[in-house]
Amino acid sequence: MAAETVIQVRDLVKQYGDFTALGGISFDVHHGEILGLLGPNGAGKSTTMKILTSFISANSGSVQVDGIDLFANPLAVRERLGYLPESTPLYDDMIVYDYLEYVGEMRGFSRTECKKRIADVTRTVGIADRVGSVIGTLSKGLRQRVGLAQALLHNPKILILDEPTGGLDPNQIVEIRKLIRELGKNHTIILSTHILPEVRQTCDRIVIVHKGKVVADGTADELEGKVGDRTHHLVVGVVRGAADSDAVAAVLAALPGVRTVTHQHASDHPTPHDTWEIVAERDMRAEVFQTATDQAWSLVELRRKHLDLEGIFQQLTQEG
Ligand code: ADP
Repeated sequence: MAAETVIQVRDLVKQYGDFTALGGISFDVHHGEILGLLGPNGAGKSTTMKILTSFISANSGSVQVDGIDLFANPLAVRERLGYLPESTPLYDDMIVYDYLEYVGEMRGFSRTECKKRIADVTRTVGIADRVGSVIGTLSKGLRQRVGLAQALLHNPKILILDEPTGGLDPNQIVEIRKLIRELGKNHTIILSTHILPEVRQTCDRIVIVHKGKVVADGTADELEGKVGDRTHHLVVGVVRGAADSDAVAAVLAALPGVRTVTHQHASDHPTPHDTWEIVAERDMRAEVFQTATDQAWSLVELRRKHLDLEGIFQQLTQEG
């Protein structure tokens, strides 16, 4: 539980001209954790990652990595970080080995050291048999592995992965997610994504970013519980014909405790019926059932809707 804090981000502000891309972002990353930065495009995920990896500066705020102040000592922090940018700047004409050797030499390793490290990282990311390939001939999934090999070459404690599954096909996504989970055994990881199932499947904890602010921070279960406690979602299906659908909606909306009633769909299969979603202050299944009985509606469905991450995200980000 009380794992060591490896990264501490506090009140990070980034302005691009007059535009505030980060309006004071704070979060922690603990040792061994895979943290997902989740948010729609433009939320500020890449900006946060570029600041952490010293590619751009921040206007204010602080970042500590392993207790080291990023802004006072960026080189010491960079040694501890491996970075996979959103669009990896790979050199299409280069052979994988030569590219990784070039990266290694930039990091100050000798040729002999590079050779050993390239053998290690290419085995780790599953491209040991591709070191002789020209990068431009590789599939997107393999290119992403080359990018990961580049990020791992100096054996950093922390990996920062910007949309690591972006642009991959479904099979490649599954493979890269598996690889990230493997890497998570030996590295602390921050990854960004705008895809909800991604965080569920890959991450231990989620920081939801929206318009340059953190709007939620916790495990998927915690976030579901947090929002789920405040509102209750109910799905109600009523056979069409016996009751006028506008009248059904009006009666449901008038029940004390009901906040909103939204028509979800009309279906003729297997029985013609309409479905509504009710958002209420409490679990109102018993009252809805009683109302249906009193109104002589035929119910075909009455269930609590489990609020998933998608719903949480909508609730947290809809205002503003
Ligand atoms: P995300 O990674 O969550 O999609 P970004 O961090 O890339 O979001 O962008 C956050 C916001 O900052 C967006 O509105 C984007 O248009 C803006 N932005 C990013 N980079 C620049 C830049 N170099 N100049 C001006 N605005 C930028």
